[in-house]
Amino acid sequence: MAQKISGMSANTQIMRKPLVLLAADDANQRKLIWTVLSEFGFRIVSADDGKSAFDLFVKTQPDAVLVDIQSADPSGFDVCESIRKLESGRETPIFMITERDDEDSVERAYRIGATDIIFRPISLPVLPHRIRYALKTARSLSDLTGLIRAIPDLIFVVNEDGEVQNGLSGPDATHTLQLKALSTASQIHFYPCENDDGALACIRKALETGKPQVYEHVIEALDIHLETRFVTRDKNTVLAIVRDITERKSAEEKIYNLAYYDELTELPNREFFSQSLERTIGIAKRDGEKFAVLFVDLDRFKRINDTLGHTIGDELLKDVAHRLAKCTRSTDSVAHLDPAASGNIKLARLGGDEFVIKLYGVDSEESVATVANRIIDSLTPPFTCAGHQFVVTPSIGIAIYPQDGKTGEELLMNADSAMYRAKNVGRNNFKFYSETMRTKSLHRLDLENLIRTAIDEEQFEVHFQPKVDAETFRLVGAEALLRWHHPTRGAVAPGDFVPIAEETGLIVPIGRYVLREACRQVKVWSTSPVGAVPVSVNISSHQFRDGGLVKDVHEAVVDAAIDTRFLELEITESVLLQDVEKTLVELKILKEAGVALSIDDFGTGYSSLSYLKRFPIDTIKIDRSFVKDLHQDADDAAICAAILAMSHQLGLNVVAEGVETREQLEFLRSHNCQHIQGYICSPALSAADFMALLVKIAGSAA
Ligand code: C2E
Ligand code: MG
Ligand code: MG
Repeated sequence: MAQKISGMSANTQIMRKPLVLLAADDANQRKLIWTVLSEFGFRIVSADDGKSAFDLFVKTQPDAVLVDIQSADPSGFDVCESIRKLESGRETPIFMITERDDEDSVERAYRIGATDIIFRPISLPVLPHRIRYALKTARSLSDLTGLIRAIPDLIFVVNEDGEVQNGLSGPDATHTLQLKALSTASQIHFYPCENDDGALACIRKALETGKPQVYEHVIEALDIHLETRFVTRDKNTVLAIVRDITERKSAEEKIYNLAYYDELTELPNREFFSQSLERTIGIAKRDGEKFAVLFVDLDRFKRINDTLGHTIGDELLKDVAHRLAKCTRSTDSVAHLDPAASGNIKLARLGGDEFVIKLYGVDSEESVATVANRIIDSLTPPFTCAGHQFVVTPSIGIAIYPQDGKTGEELLMNADSAMYRAKNVGRNNFKFYSETMRTKSLHRLDLENLIRTAIDEEQFEVHFQPKVDAETFRLVGAEALLRWHHPTRGAVAPGDFVPIAEETGLIVPIGRYVLREACRQVKVWSTSPVGAVPVSVNISSHQFRDGGLVKDVHEAVVDAAIDTRFLELEITESVLLQDVEKTLVELKILKEAGVALSIDDFGTGYSSLSYLKRFPIDTIKIDRSFVKDLHQDADDAAICAAILAMSHQLGLNVVAEGVETREQLEFLRSHNCQHIQGYICSPALSAADFMALLVKIAGSAA
C-alpha cells in the first residue's frame, strides 16, 4: 500500500527537496529510515511491496530509490531491473539494502544496475549523506550526458588500430553529419579510421605523445568535410571527436575565392597575380631565366561601358577574358611552363579593363612580340553582346624581368607605363618598356642642361628638305628640319625630343635657333648661282604662347640681313585654336612684315574651314598620312582630292608632304597639286649637301 508524501506544506520547498522512493516490507525499518531522511530534508514516498514500488516510481519519478532486496512480489532485484529498463530510470541512483555476508546478492545487484549497496544493520547517520552524494554524482553525470548529446560532434572511442570500441554520443550527432537516416552505429562504420592511414597516424601520435591530434578529411561521395580530434583516453584508446566542417569549408572557399579571384571573369585577381609574380621572380632569379609581363588594356572600353551600360560592358569583359585565356593557353610553345607550380598563373584581371599576362622563360623580345601580336589578333574579330557588335582593340605594354624591374611591383608599373606609351602612339599595338625608357631617360637627366649644351656645343643641326613643283620638279623652297646628334646617344629623332622640349618650354630657345639658322642659310644660298630659296620653319604652339615669336622672327631676319619674303612659318591647326584673338594679332603682324604662313599636317587636327578664311594663310600642307595610302585607300584619295579642290577655291597654295611613289605623284598631279615634298625628290639634306644640290641645279640649268 502506498503511503502519503510527507512535508507538503510549502510548494516551493517541495520543489527543492529531493524525493526518495523507499521500498521495504518491514514497517519498522521503513519508519526508521523515514524519520532520519525527513530530518535531513528529503521527501519520501514508500511502498511495502515490489509492485507498488515500481508503480510509485513511474508515478512520482523520484530522485533516488532505496529498495530492500528482500522486498517481495516482485523481488527487489526485479524492481531494480524494471526501473533500469525505463528511459527515465536509466540514471536514477538505486541503493539496494542487503545482508553483509550475502555476496551473491551483492554481485547480482551491481550486475542489474544498482548504484550502491547498503548493508544491514543500516548505519542511519551515514545513510542520508550517501544518498545526497549519489544524487550529486548522478546530477553531474546527467549534465555531462546532456552536454555530450547537445554538442553536434560525434564522439566515440577507438583503439590504436582505429577500431571503434563504443559510441559515446547519441543519435543527435546524425543531424550535423547531414545523414539523418543513418544511426550512430552506421556513422561510425562509415567513418572507418582503421582504413585511413592519415587517421591511423594521428591516433598513434596521440597515444605516443599524449597530445590531441587534429585530422581533416573529406568523404568525397557525400561531399562532407570532417575534422576529427583524437584525444588520448588511456594507454590503448583514444576519443575520436568528429565534427562536420562542411559549412565552414565552403565559407572558407568562398572567402578564398573572393580574396584571390575576380568574380566576373573568374580569373585570378591582382592580389593573386602579385603573389604569383613574386614566386616567379624567386624561381627566375635562381635559374637565371627571363620572363615577360604583358599589361593589356582595352582601348576605349570606358566609352562602351558608359554608353551601353555595365551589363554589356561586363559581358564584353567576360568574352575578352575568354579569348585571352585561349590565347595564353597556346603560348606554351613560345614560353615554356612556369615551374612555380602554385604560382603558375598566366593570366589575371587587374580590374576594370586591365588584364595581365605572364610569360615564363622568354628567350628573346621577338618571341614576346609574337605572343603580343597573337593577343591583338585574337581580339580582332568583332564581339557580339546583346545584339550589338563591337570592335575592341588592346594596347599592350611589356616589361621583362630582370632588365625592366626586379620586383613584381616594379614590373607591373613599368609594363603599365609601356602600355600608356602604346596607347599614345596609336592604340591597337604593343610597346616594350625598354623602348620607352630612351625618351624617359632623357627626361630624367637634366634635359634643360642637355639641350642648352646641345645648342652651345652645336649638337643641333638644321637640315633642309627641298620642296619642288609637282610638274617640273623645279625647286620652289625648303623646309628646315631639326636634327640632333648626341655624342653618346647618337641621332635622336625630332619625334622623340620635340614633345619633351615642348613640355619643358625648351622648344622656345631651340625654335629661336632654328629660325636664326634657317635665315642664315637663306643668306648663304642667296650668294649661290641659284639665288635665295624660300625656307619654311616649323613653329610650335609653345612659341606662340611664349609671346616672343614676333621679336625672334624680326631679329633672325634682321641679323641675317634677308628679305622676309624668303621666310615661311609652318604652324599646326592647334595653334589657330589657342587664344584666337592674340594669335590672330601676331599672325597679322608677321604677315604684314612679309612672312608667309602655312598650315602643317593639314587634316589631322580639328579642322575648321572658317579659320582658313579668318587667318592670313598662304599654304596648306597635306599630311603625310593621307598621301601615304592614296593609291590603296579610297578614303585617303577622296580627302586629298577634297583638300586640293577646296584650296583652289580659296586661292591657297598646296604642298603634299611625304610623296614617295610615282602613283602618289600621278594622283596629285591629276588633281592639280602644285608643290610636293618627299623622298621621291629628296630627303632632308645637311646645309652642305643642300648647297651642293643648288650648285648642281644651277649647273644643269646652264
Ligand atoms: P613635319 O613638319 O610634318 O615634317 C615632315 C616630316 O616628314 C619630317 O620628319 C621629314 O623628314 C619627314 N618626311 C619628309 N618626306 C618624307 C617621305 O617621303 N617619307 C617619309 N616617311 N617621311 C618624310 P622629321 O624631320 O622627323 O620631323 C618630324 C616632325 O618633327 C616634323 O613634322 C615637325 O612636326 C617636328 N619638327 C622637326 N623640326 C622641327 C623644328 O625645328 N621645330 C619644331 N617645332 N618642330 C620640328
Ligand atoms: Mg613641317
Ligand atoms: Mg607635316
